[in-house]
Amino acid sequence: MLVSVVIPVFNEDRCLEALLDKLIEVANAGPIDYEYIFVNDGSTDGSLAILRRFAQEHHNVKYISFSRNFGHEAATTAGLDHTSGDAVVIMDADLQHPPEVVPEMIQKWQQGHQIVYAQRRSRTSETAFKRATSWLFYRIIRWLSDADIPPDTGDFRLMDKYVVDQVRRCRERSRFVRALIAWTGFRQTAVLYDEQKRFAGETKYGVFKLIRLAFDAVLGFSDFPLRIGVVLGLVVCFLSVAMGIIVVVQKLVWGIPISGYATLVTGIFFLGGVQLLVIGLLGEYISRIYVQSQFRPLYIIAEKSDALPKGEQGWYGLSPSLTENAERARSSSRGEADN
Ligand code: UDP
Ligand code: MG
Repeated sequence: MLVSVVIPVFNEDRCLEALLDKLIEVANAGPIDYEYIFVNDGSTDGSLAILRRFAQEHHNVKYISFSRNFGHEAATTAGLDHTSGDAVVIMDADLQHPPEVVPEMIQKWQQGHQIVYAQRRSRTSETAFKRATSWLFYRIIRWLSDADIPPDTGDFRLMDKYVVDQVRRCRERSRFVRALIAWTGFRQTAVLYDEQKRFAGETKYGVFKLIRLAFDAVLGFSDFPLRIGVVLGLVVCFLSVAMGIIVVVQKLVWGIPISGYATLVTGIFFLGGVQLLVIGLLGEYISRIYVQSQFRPLYIIAEKSDALPKGEQGWYGLSPSLTENAERARSSSRGEADN
């Protein structure tokens, strides 16, 4: 039985040695075979050199290296695309996800759960602001989305090979991998863990990156924001009719002169704000359609270890049927051009 561990790496040269030591220690303590797939997401430090060395020293360490930084979600996807294990674990490189939890996850998987996510029992290492926003985010996304996205989890989770195959078929550009995994709908369960402090270095997720990810998550898994315009429009229409009636009645019955500069200005600004908000939301969806319609690969590999099959470049055609479809589409468009 082989378990693949996918680890996205972006400037983590100070964590990698400690991480691999820990992983090997865990592997030696149990009967499971592991392969480790590190994905270097355009690091500018010594990470790639370390990964090359790891791959030479350990037959079960493999790496993929991108031509530039394509982002955490793309790196995770590339790792999933290259796994060959019966189950796959995704974890961060900074030791915030303790490798000791992995055997526990494997146990749950062997008991018949296709997805085992690691849920934070405690999260002492993060700032109060990050904890609060993360708490709120998971409540909102769970409310908006049909997928059963488990709250208070990171990317740390195990999936059965079959689930991985299904996730691989999803090739959207704006990705939120942990929600995609939940979206597949397979039976999931949790193991609890205490999130550790980052072993070394800084977080790679600044506020803007987190906001981006939250948008990708919400817009990727819900069309509710598209309908906010309709709801707001109806409310405003209803209010303005009611106000119109009140104003006319006041004038006819009491002859009150119509005053209210402040009301007018507030109303104009409020409506302006609502309109911009709704247009902005439309823009977010349209930009996603635009990016998706460019059909660019999700990532570009510059180098990978010899142990991995050659050729894959994060293109759409990962599953054979998708490759065939893409081929067919390409040859038919060539055919049309010839005619
Ligand atoms: N990461 C990545 N590409 C990026 C940003 C992050 O591959 O553009 C990796 C990073 O090396 C780490 C994981 O994603 O293994 C999670 O990042 P980080 O620990 O900085 O995020 P946090 O835990 O603070 O949310
Ligand atoms: Mg981290």
